[in-house]
Amino acid sequence: MSGREVVPFKCEECGAEFAETAGGICHSCGRVLCRKHLIIPLLKGTRLRDAPAPLCTTCQRTGVKGEGA
Ligand SMILES: [Zn+2]
Ligand SMILES: [Zn+2]
Repeated sequence: MSGREVVPFKCEECGAEFAETAGGICHSCGRVLCRKHLIIPLLKGTRLRDAPAPLCTTCQRTGVKGEGA
């Protein structure tokens, strides 16, 4: 799936298209979400690898943890 154009990701929550750096994947439900719907708990002085896994607004609201089917 390699096109010449850089196809942006599409938020599965609001349908907005965004670049890879402007969003991410929910660690819980695995959906691709824009930054508006993906909460990335970045802490100052924390490296990305050490940062907590990002959760979408839905998963964080419901408090679902772990890997859902
Ligand atoms: Zn969104
Ligand atoms: Zn989620």
